[in-house]
Amino acid sequence: MSSDDESGNDFPEFNEDTDMDNPNIIVGLVFHTGDVYRKVVRMYSIKKEFELKFKKNDHGKISAYCSREYGWKIYASYFRETKAIQVKSIYGTPHRCP
Ligand SMILES: [Zn+2]
Repeated sequence: MSSDDESGNDFPEFNEDTDMDNPNIIVGLVFHTGDVYRKVVRMYSIKKEFELKFKKNDHGKISAYCSREYGWKIYASYFRETKAIQVKSIYGTPHRCP
């Protein structure tokens, strides 16, 4: 993979090497690939001990939610020219289902 990141993009980037143990997912955060994003969201659900469901991808988007009453939801979409994906919204952070 090229290390030549898109310039002109000031969004925070998730660093797999340092951020995976305690993922802090915020709106605007960028993941290098959808796979990384999925992994991180899954890790978050494990840390917060809730059951995660991924929604079927519609066009260029991946959303996921807590299976209990939609107590937590996240939605991210891909950038047009790269495989990177960015968090667009989070609902219910921090997760606090009973
Ligand atoms: Zn929940």
